Amino acid sequence: MIIVLRPESTEAQIQHILERIAELGFKPHISRGELRTIIGVIGDESKLRAEPLQAIPGVEQVLQILKPYKLASREMRREDTTVEVGDPATGVKPVRIGGGSLLMIAGPCAIESAEVLETIAGQVKAAGANLLRGGAFKPRTSPYAFQGLGEKGLQILREVGHKHGMPVVTEVMDPRQVDVVHRYADMFQIGARNMQNFDLLKEVGMTRKPVLLKRGMSATVKDLLMSAEYILSEGNPNVVLCERGIKSFEDSTRNMLDLSAVPNVKGLSHLPIIVDPSHATGRPDLIPSMACAALAAGADGVHIEVHSCPEKALSDGPQALLPSQYSALLKQLRRIADLMGKTF
Ligand code: PEP
Ligand code: MN
Repeated sequence: MIIVLRPESTEAQIQHILERIAELGFKPHISRGELRTIIGVIGDESKLRAEPLQAIPGVEQVLQILKPYKLASREMRREDTTVEVGDPATGVKPVRIGGGSLLMIAGPCAIESAEVLETIAGQVKAAGANLLRGGAFKPRTSPYAFQGLGEKGLQILREVGHKHGMPVVTEVMDPRQVDVVHRYADMFQIGARNMQNFDLLKEVGMTRKPVLLKRGMSATVKDLLMSAEYILSEGNPNVVLCERGIKSFEDSTRNMLDLSAVPNVKGLSHLPIIVDPSHATGRPDLIPSMACAALAAGADGVHIEVHSCPEKALSDGPQALLPSQYSALLKQLRRIADLMGKTF
């Protein structure tokens, strides 16, 4: 349930409410909005009655959240959440997502070598990308395909990101990789195949590092929000969702981009959501129009794979945009962002 506080409630009253909730054996989650402070009470609600809470000074209303996801819901937080990616202590300026600031993620599918990543990073940064991507642990369908460079790849990503003043995001596939990825990356990526790896979600939830949570290819919007709930309920509020296409009977595209997921999620949740037209379509000829449509639908950014020589790429080469194509696309996206009152 959620406890809506009166606008004039004092800090002492808030602390008192938090203590009462903890005494009752529940985990309080506080959300301080511009106008109101809301406290989410998470746990078995059959063991909690609204009336005693309603009687505490400073409480305006106690409401049941009917949706199965609680902390991720719009009821919990009316304002859009913004997430900051990057640590100023590393010397790289953090990037903000949400509240009108767009996240432009670009880079190769996999980190292949320092030289290749260096070339791509320089080009996407010049085009306007603000977060560098690259996989060091790759979820490949075949065990014989390139699996990624592991920690060596993470080192390369960190160094190249640093050199170009870009925070970095990379995939973590297993709870055992969380520590090492935490050391090098500014944002965890949970891939589509791991969206319901609940142990992994809990592990990244125990950190405070931002998480890019990609929708599973057979997951509903509700499933996606339930997975976000796992991360939030561990105490990490920094979740960014990503629509990357779902399975369908259509086989001319890699997946089916569910663009309606963007406004759908925005109605149901306060979390930012971006779109990955690269994995959704698998086709460079379709990526630009789908990226434009994503921003027009209200997405908080796009995630696009770019390679300086797609034919030599070790994974997902056929769907990579060339840096020149990415640069042309970003010019178009700037105009759409302008119309939407957003910037990157
Ligand atoms: C990726 O971003 O490289 C990736 C594997 O994406 P997804 O998990 O969406 O398939
Ligand atoms: Mn890929």
